[in-house]
Amino acid sequence: MITEIKGNVMYFDGCSTVELAEKYGTPLYVYSENAILKECNEIKECFPDKYENTRVAYATKAFCSIAMCKIMEREGFCMDVVSGGELFTAIKAGFPAERIEFNGNNKLREELELAIEYGIGRIIIDGLQELHMIEEICKQKNKKINVLYRITPGVDSHTHNYITTGKKDSKFGIPLDADVIYPAVEAAINSPFVNFKGIHFHVGSQLFDNCSHLLALETTLQLVKKTKEKFDYDITELNIGGGFGVTYTDEQRKPYEYFVKPVMEKITEFFNQLGMERPAVVIEPGRSMVAEAGITLYKVGSIKEIKGIRKYVSIDGGMTDNIRPALYQAEYKGVIANKMDMPADDVVTVCGKCCETGDVLIKDGKFARAEQGDILAVLTTGAYGYSMASNYNKNPIPGVVLVKDGKSAEIIKKQSYEDMIERECYVEL
Ligand SMILES: *Cc1c(COP(=O)(O)O)cnc(C)c1O
Repeated sequence: MITEIKGNVMYFDGCSTVELAEKYGTPLYVYSENAILKECNEIKECFPDKYENTRVAYATKAFCSIAMCKIMEREGFCMDVVSGGELFTAIKAGFPAERIEFNGNNKLREELELAIEYGIGRIIIDGLQELHMIEEICKQKNKKINVLYRITPGVDSHTHNYITTGKKDSKFGIPLDADVIYPAVEAAINSPFVNFKGIHFHVGSQLFDNCSHLLALETTLQLVKKTKEKFDYDITELNIGGGFGVTYTDEQRKPYEYFVKPVMEKITEFFNQLGMERPAVVIEPGRSMVAEAGITLYKVGSIKEIKGIRKYVSIDGGMTDNIRPALYQAEYKGVIANKMDMPADDVVTVCGKCCETGDVLIKDGKFARAEQGDILAVLTTGAYGYSMASNYNKNPIPGVVLVKDGKSAEIIKKQSYEDMIERECYVEL
């Protein structure tokens, strides 16, 4: 068990959350290595270990750090990066370049140059303009690179609007209009500077239904067939993205198998019928790899009760370390980590310390009666928490601690005030 209760204290991967808070200070992001490894094993069992010629690329944007790159390397995973900064982090971690894939709707020339220079495994291209930029760079550097096209499959995945990406009106991917997609495919096939491997889609995030993946796959397979007919070209790789949902409050999480199995069945059947060899298949989980492996520890500060209306419990972090509730009404569960033996029967709103009314982490959640100095743990914060952190109100970004079997180590030091102003000066003009 990753989370346990001993006496009145919540333990996380064998470590007392109260002791962690004391030792490293709050706010504090805590990741359980065993929880990450458990995700890795679940994925491996039903995907790369089960089907030949398949790969898992962790979408680093969920939580990008040197330590995470090291774990992914050891686990044999690939990584999907979406910026020069993430690419740089992976390279600095010594992550093998050929296992890196690069996504993004507006990759900058210098980012593409860095990627091609390092010799990364794949660039997933979002449009013809990007193909031309890659060709120029490859020509200049005398290199050739593997590419896929990200398509917009025209699937509406019915999650929050900000996190659906597959429907037609989206900044991501190439639209499937015949006069757009086929010239792009033809240009990639005929380019001396790229190896055109195949098609990529990513339909959205936090999904609990496999129908978006299956619908998008249907469209993709038609494109594969058309590519064969029109250009006599065999597509050798399909990337079906990520988006697998996790449990924040009371969602029923689906096993990876639920998504992967019907996808593989459909792909296998399709290529058998076509008499073509099945392409490599890649998945790109981000959130599901790290969300439940992370918690955030805070210290309770002021408590304000507005009689008959609401009780506010303020903590020493907030939207600066977890923007998701303010950004898209994400919901979380929390506990008073030093009062696990007490009934959670007090309805309170947990708010941050920023000067924004919207700086609320949990609205009307049930907690044990909180007092100043208590340790409040917000659960399932491992994805898109640290990676979206900001210095708003000049709050330093908290540190990150990795725990495993009762051991702990700081993997990202917390920012100091000095760190925050290090690059500042005044020039009188
Ligand atoms: C964000 C992203 C992912 C991962 O999505 P999750 O919902 O975190 O699993 C995968 N692929 C691409 C291209 C992405 O942008």
